[in-house]
Parts: sequence; C-alpha cells; structure tokens
Amino acid sequence: MTVDSRTTRELIETVARRVIASAEELTDLDRAIGDGDHGINMQRGFEAVLTQLDQLAAQRLGNALKGVGTTLVLKVGGASGPLYGTLFMALGKALPDDVTREQLADALALALDAVKARGKSDIGQKTMLDVLGPVLAVLREGGDDLPARLRATAAAAASATVPMKAIRGRASFLGERSIGHMDPGARSSALMIEAVADVMEGRA
Ligand code: ADP
Ligand code: MG
Repeated sequence: MTVDSRTTRELIETVARRVIASAEELTDLDRAIGDGDHGINMQRGFEAVLTQLDQLAAQRLGNALKGVGTTLVLKVGGASGPLYGTLFMALGKALPDDVTREQLADALALALDAVKARGKSDIGQKTMLDVLGPVLAVLREGGDDLPARLRATAAAAASATVPMKAIRGRASFLGERSIGHMDPGARSSALMIEAVADVMEGRA
C-alpha cells in the first residue's frame, strides 16, 4: 500500500497528540524510577513536530518519519530523545514508498536494531524496546484484527515492564528498587502504537 498524504498527516498528528495528552502520566512514571522529565521531554518534542505538520505531511511517509526523528533528536533531550529520534529516522529511511506489511516489519526491525546500537541495549532491560519488540513480532505475524492485536500487545508489554528490573537508563541506578513500576519509555511507546492502531482502524 502507498500511504497517502492525508494518512501520513493523521498518523503523525495522532501519535503526537496522544503523547502530549499523556505527558503528565509519563512524567509521573518517570518520577517513580527516573528524574521525572519523560513527559515534559516528549511533550516538547511532539509539540515541535505538530508545528511542522504541514511540511511533514507534504512528504512521502518515509521522509516525513525521518523529519519527525530529526525534530525529536533536537527537541526531546534526555536519553529518550536520541533513542526515539533514531527509531523514527531509521524507520523512515528503511520504508519504501509502496510498503507491504512484511516490508514495514523489516523496516521496524532495522529501526529497533538502530535503537539497540545507539542505546547499547536490548529487549529484557525494562525500556521502550520491551514494547517495540513484541509489537514487531505481532506485525511480522500479520493476520486478522492486526490493529487490535497491536494495541493489546503494546498495552500488555508495557504492563509487563512493571515486574522487571531496569538494566539500562536512569532507572538502572535504582537496581532492585526499579521493580514494581512501569517503564516510562515503554508506556510512551505503547501510546504511539495505540495511536497507530487507531488510525489503521479509522478510529483516531
Ligand atoms: P532520561 O532517562 O535521560 O531522563 P527520559 O526520561 O526522557 O530520559 O527517558 C527515559 C526512557 O528512555 C526510559 O524509560 C527507557 O524506556 C528509555 N531508555 C533509557 N535508556 C535506554 C537505552 N539505553 N535503550 C533503550 N531505551 C532507553
Ligand atoms: Mg527522565
């Protein structure tokens, strides 16, 4: 499928608005096991993205996502800025204009590898990767009700970070005390996936 400019706009705008609307929740999560800035960091980044929405939506989806990534690197700050920036830039770079589900999965896999390289991190360390990894697996599988399964997988995967011990990022400084709290980056990733699923279903 080719993602038209209206859908490109809807995808970017919905993701941005959902993250911004949940800034307080993200900050509360980060207050528990980090420094309490994840919501404000992400809000700053996605507000900058919204100011560029017209220019972004005028581009092909791949280039638009690269643009989102560049803005996130510049505006978000913290650990998550470069990591989300890398995610969006790598995803945009790997996306062909006319994209199948398999190609989307391949592009997301490359983007996750780029995040892992940048963060020296992997799945199982209580980060955003613990949501994006399971989401990739479901995307790869395909099948019926894909948006609903992506949404459910993202939510369950974010919840599954609660009992995990953080091995990367600021939360890792807490060691065992990081157990019992949801990872803020896992939650922000789940919000983004839920937004994408809603756009796929026409419910955004
Ligand atoms: P900071 O930790 O610098 O204050 P944020 O609070 O904005 O940055 O983001 C924290 C989130 O970033 C964490 O919840 C985690 O999901 C993610 N994160 C941190 N370090 C890494 C890493 N090395 N690899 C993957 N994700 C990471
Ligand atoms: Mg923080």
